[in-house]
Amino acid sequence: MANKESIQRSGILTDKALSFLSFKREFLEKNKHFQSNKIRNYFNVSDNDWNSWKWQLQNQIKTAEKLKEIFDITQHEFEQLVKVSEKFRFAITPYYLSLIQNFNKSDPIYLQCIPQIDELYYGGKIDPMNESNNNPAGTITRRYPDRVILNVTNSCAAFCRHCQRRRNIGEKDIYINEASLEESFEYIKSHPEIRDVLITGGDPLTLSDSCIENILIKIRSIETVEIIRIGTRIPVTLPQRITSELITILKNMVLFI
Ligand code: SF4
Repeated sequence: MANKESIQRSGILTDKALSFLSFKREFLEKNKHFQSNKIRNYFNVSDNDWNSWKWQLQNQIKTAEKLKEIFDITQHEFEQLVKVSEKFRFAITPYYLSLIQNFNKSDPIYLQCIPQIDELYYGGKIDPMNESNNNPAGTITRRYPDRVILNVTNSCAAFCRHCQRRRNIGEKDIYINEASLEESFEYIKSHPEIRDVLITGGDPLTLSDSCIENILIKIRSIETVEIIRIGTRIPVTLPQRITSELITILKNMVLFI
């Protein structure tokens, strides 16, 4: 049985922890609005547009010049950013940028999306998974016996600096052509041992609803495929994309089984 002193002490510790959590919540909320408002003011954007995934994609921050207008970066950081982005492009949605706390350059989202000069100097491999030598047809990557990757775009709402498919990101958005996709579907169909298809890219949810639906219908119609997965960061980088229409498309694919 705990003694009175221990219970009192535990109560004091709880009060202290709650007081800190309450301060933290208020602080983060206040700064979030400060930053979010600054970014919204910069774009002079209505709530409707801000909540539109298409507006967010059309207004991605993709250049050092634009970032400097919004974010407090030094001239030196600006020059480094220009240098790196000439070789490795970057992009981030206004929404995702607004989540960086207090314009802090140590914030994980800043480090995830905004290029650092080290990218030019620390080697690494352009194709660390050797995927280009595992491409038997169309836009398929096959590295395992019963599953494949289907690459459908090289576009993303935000380009992660650590991306293992950096070689696909390139200099501009590329939407995979119909013929290449058809070749990929045919390959999956003619290999009944493939039971798991991971749709990825880039980020498949940057595609239009009709594109996503067509791809899903095609794969779902292959009887030997049991599992369809979508590799995406959109729920965090562009949650506005998760519309009721998209949810209906995804739900229909589940019911389709
Ligand atoms: S493919 Fe994935 S990891 Fe690579 S940049 Fe896009 S979201 Fe990030």
